[in-house]
Amino acid sequence: MAIRIGNGYDIHQLVSGRPLILGGVAIPHTLGLLGHSDADVLTHAIMDALLGALSLGDIGHYFPPDDPQWAGADSTQLLAHVAGLIHSRGWQIGNLDTVVVAERPKLKPHIPAMQARLAEVLGLAPDQVGIKATTNEKLGPVGREEGIAAYAVALLERPAAP
Ligand code: MG
Repeated sequence: MAIRIGNGYDIHQLVSGRPLILGGVAIPHTLGLLGHSDADVLTHAIMDALLGALSLGDIGHYFPPDDPQWAGADSTQLLAHVAGLIHSRGWQIGNLDTVVVAERPKLKPHIPAMQARLAEVLGLAPDQVGIKATTNEKLGPVGREEGIAAYAVALLERPAAP
């Protein structure tokens, strides 16, 4: 069994007049994330972790922010595309572990739905998709609710050739 590991990070600005989408789930809030796509910061961090594990570059390479094709894109569709790149190279996802850093809203009640949605997109069991939420203790831009950040680690596995 060969294994590879990758990490990803992303941050998006919080603004009024946008939906808040995290892990493919719409979360009720007074603010949403600004971006060319749906600005799903958690899904973006996961994509970069998956790509990074195989040194395939980053999401900006596959989905350029200035490409009108991706305007308003559902990031879970982009994630499915990235998963296809991984699978086509003979790799499968062992597990993901992630952290979402947000001062508000409280994300804990939404974590099971986010795990279920991401697992569905990736063909995984929900317990292969770790999601943790923390605040930034009111420190820095995330603490001032100017944005939400996410970190992700992905473990990939490839069975040994028979
Ligand atoms: Mg992003």
